[in-house]
Amino acid sequence: MKLTTPISEVTRLAPEQVKALKKLGLSTIEDLLYHFPTRYGDTAAKRSIGSLLKGEAVVIFGKISNLKTSKAFYKKIPMAEGTLEDETGKIKIIWFHQAYLAKMIGEGAFVRAEGKVTERKSELYMSNPKIETVTKIPFAVGESLFGEEAEDNTIYPVYSETKGVTSNWMFHTIQKIFKSGILETLIDPIPESILDIYNLPNLRTAMIWIHAPRRKDNAVSARKRFSFEEIFFIQLQKQQNRALWHKENAFVIDPRKDQLEDFMARFPFPLTGAQKKSIDTILNDFKSGHPMSRLLEGDVGSGKTAVAAAATYAAITTRPKGQTFGNLEVAYMAPTEILAQQHFESFIQYFTHTGISVGLITGSGCRKFPSKVDPRGWTNISRSQLLKWVANGEIPILIGTHALITKSVKFKHLAFVIIDEQHRFGTAQRQKLAEKHEAAPHLLSMTATPIPRTLTLTLYGDLDLSLLDEMPAGRKPIITEIVLPTKRDETYEKVRKELVAGRQTYVICPRIDEPDPNKEGTLNARSVTEEAKRLKCDVFQDYSIDILHSKMTPIEKEKVMNKFKEGVTDILVATSVVEVGVSVANATVIIIEGGERFGLAQLHQLRGRVLRGNHQAYCFVFSESNSTKSNERLGALKKASNGFELAEYDLQQRGSGVLYSGKQWGVSDLAMEAIQNMKMVEAARNEAKRIIAEDFTLASYPTLIERMETQTENIHFE
Ligand code: ADP
Ligand code: MG
Repeated sequence: MKLTTPISEVTRLAPEQVKALKKLGLSTIEDLLYHFPTRYGDTAAKRSIGSLLKGEAVVIFGKISNLKTSKAFYKKIPMAEGTLEDETGKIKIIWFHQAYLAKMIGEGAFVRAEGKVTERKSELYMSNPKIETVTKIPFAVGESLFGEEAEDNTIYPVYSETKGVTSNWMFHTIQKIFKSGILETLIDPIPESILDIYNLPNLRTAMIWIHAPRRKDNAVSARKRFSFEEIFFIQLQKQQNRALWHKENAFVIDPRKDQLEDFMARFPFPLTGAQKKSIDTILNDFKSGHPMSRLLEGDVGSGKTAVAAAATYAAITTRPKGQTFGNLEVAYMAPTEILAQQHFESFIQYFTHTGISVGLITGSGCRKFPSKVDPRGWTNISRSQLLKWVANGEIPILIGTHALITKSVKFKHLAFVIIDEQHRFGTAQRQKLAEKHEAAPHLLSMTATPIPRTLTLTLYGDLDLSLLDEMPAGRKPIITEIVLPTKRDETYEKVRKELVAGRQTYVICPRIDEPDPNKEGTLNARSVTEEAKRLKCDVFQDYSIDILHSKMTPIEKEKVMNKFKEGVTDILVATSVVEVGVSVANATVIIIEGGERFGLAQLHQLRGRVLRGNHQAYCFVFSESNSTKSNERLGALKKASNGFELAEYDLQQRGSGVLYSGKQWGVSDLAMEAIQNMKMVEAARNEAKRIIAEDFTLASYPTLIERMETQTENIHFE
């Protein structure tokens, strides 16, 4: 038996099981071994069936039999029933509306049932208990009816299951695999010295502990080990990429201090301390002769563009190596056309006095500043003309969308690349941009996406971090209110006052269309389409309302956004996809529906849309939740100074599972558990850094190389 042996060779599979395993993505022994339990049940709190009394809420374990489904009971409600039995007695189980459960479980299965004991015609039964199959049944010593070994171990694993394979089946199949002796053949990819330092179980022990723990803390240690492993290998990869990148040669950019000071003194505002510090750090990187790779994190409105402008100035006033004429060039890439245009306009303001040309390239056209006829304005030019000027170095600053990195765009001396909202650009794209030039350009990625620091360190472990954690002075804080359902009308009146005064409003809804009433949990979420209709009919009849959501085409979205920008639309009802970073200065109010459904950092980011104007801004977070805890959590929005803090707070409050799906980032949910643990992430990072520093090619660690090769095939970032 090998790791690559198909499961079908371990145990005979019914066609239904083949289908189910395929659905779960499990085909080999290795897949199954790494299909970890989602949680663990405990039989310690169980009650014996013979002792149950009417009205009690209990947990019982037993074997299920006599399963029957019917519709004949009153009013055609589909129902099923069965009998649950342990060594002390029997009880009837009835399912209304959930007859499928009976089919999923199957005759003779061992289950755990949790619910209330009811009585009808002097017979006890449980209706619609929470039910799941279990891997074993706890028995008092010597009382086993079912011929299993009595054990004092009360912990059992619970696997995610699907129709055809139960949790119980997984447990027993994995036990069978264990018995084959395969665990003895596994080679632990983590060096023993590291396991020792952090007191982590080795691979073999961890496998046993995660699938069949004798104590709860065994399972905890095992999970810790596997999440450490994943983070550690991500870090190794990142640190290796980083080291590789830093070996490249880059243009030395060392601007004249007085000129740069002069340039920055022209900004219509004094720089914040955080902006100055970031600029200094960047200038330092610029001097090293090796390419910078830096992530600039800062909330919406923290002034990342000004940092980018100062760094740009430093680059374009530097001469190409060995030349007394010409400029180095800068590319500034934005995720959308609207944003690219916005940056183009900001840069025109920053660079007008320098006489330096700025180009804009997007899918829908090209522009150049200054125009021949109007030295203060821009002009449309043909793509081929623009590309010619970029290639010969006459336009040293080129701003654009993805169009920037197409083959036909050639630079003369590309020395510095700025990427706005970098999470939307893949690693491969970054690499591509870097590879096709005479020297590796310095990279500055900018993001306002507030994710916890541990996640940043993991996902962007190949980048250095700068944080703009200080808002420009003099900004009026947004007035934020958490609005409970009873205060809805009152709040609309406040919003109306703003509309009367000529301001505009965003309304953010959790969904696009009306929910499917058959799906649990979606019922109360308001939708963009319905809410827009409702507001028009019942609340804001006199105002123009438009909608924006992710199912619209980019052109449709841009039209809607432009109408809103121009003030034609008063109220924009949208999903949370309203483009990050788009600024409409006259929009001063944002209403967020179903606030309890969003992460705090996300709410904070949404709130950032109304930060830009000179008028007082308002954010009303409507909560449908009655839970004090949930509303308290939302209350943190009132106090927070930046989104990164909120991301951290939410991570501690709600855990990584609720907030972030590992899939979104290409890592497993188990690895996401580690994100909650700063110490572990730092440990994984430090170990990876140390190993790469000592042995860049990992020549003395063949197991690491092997493991990293399989990983590269599986992991895809962004
Ligand atoms: P973001 O970090 O979201 O990209 P921007 O760079 O677009 O933020 O800046 C937001 C606004 O704040 C712009 O209008 C900009 O001119 C202004 N701004 C930037 N830095 C400062 C500062 N230090 N003081 C005052 N206003 C600033
Ligand atoms: Mg920005």
